[in-house]
Amino acid sequence: MVTFGVDIGGTTTRAAIVDRNLKVQNFKACPTRDLSSIDKLIDWLSEFPEQAFRLNSAKDKPFSSTIGVAIAGIINKSKSEVVRSVHLPFLEGEPIRESLTAALHIPVHLVTDAQATTWGEYIALRDRPTGFAHLRFGTGVACGVIVNNSFVEPARKANQHANILIADASGEGRICKCGLRGCLETVASGSALQRAASAIGCQDLENLEISALREDAGAVAVIDSTASAIAGVAMRLADAYSVNTISIGGGVIHAMPQLAKRIELACNAMQGDGSSCFPKIVRSNLGDHAGVIGAAILAGEETEAA
Ligand SMILES: [Zn+2]
Repeated sequence: MVTFGVDIGGTTTRAAIVDRNLKVQNFKACPTRDLSSIDKLIDWLSEFPEQAFRLNSAKDKPFSSTIGVAIAGIINKSKSEVVRSVHLPFLEGEPIRESLTAALHIPVHLVTDAQATTWGEYIALRDRPTGFAHLRFGTGVACGVIVNNSFVEPARKANQHANILIADASGEGRICKCGLRGCLETVASGSALQRAASAIGCQDLENLEISALREDAGAVAVIDSTASAIAGVAMRLADAYSVNTISIGGGVIHAMPQLAKRIELACNAMQGDGSSCFPKIVRSNLGDHAGVIGAAILAGEETEAA
């Protein structure tokens, strides 16, 4: 089966045709700010080869009869619209599934970017663990958990981040855009790290990474405290859901290998600290393609199950 996948992120929107072996074709990316309405999104998608949206028929058998669309936000129970997206406010309340289905003449399977990237990274593993979590650090922070091949949704109130994603429960953490205080997003998202980098005179995350490599004390302190916040959340996820593999990815991890390394070290240190779980920390296998691949494969599986 070949399926079309779209991943609408806070900063970048990506789309591609994805085959069963997770190979992508016709991959394209565009700044999300240039697609700030459903109509602009449809125009951009319409530039893909017509085959991407072709309905399954005897003639075009390998093509899925559904396309997968992942969105950085919270979607409603019937998977038809976005109820909350701090990074994509133009999509809130829009009947996105209906609009895309009507414009592209093919049913749309809507998922969150957390589900899409988590499923993508999960199916890309050679040995799939019984308990798996993916933490993704980009414009925001996304988290997905899979137990026994099915998604588990960590508890959360209404449209807020899940409680398990609170990195600073002291009551003194920064207020997150979701309304909670101390969310992992307030310390480990791209913008949070950019703020921390600027405060010590680093221009951007690449600069922060270079400074940390040079053992600059300020940069090392920023990276260590971020790694420790991420490791704390990772270990709580492992304990709560018997997760044995935690994958970390996203633009922040890609830009900062030092951070990834220190997350691994921090998790290892915590494992010797009375934790009952010993999760393996792995880095993203699919990089920027994770959301597109996960969205497409989830849509393909939906088609096959129907
Ligand atoms: Zn939050």
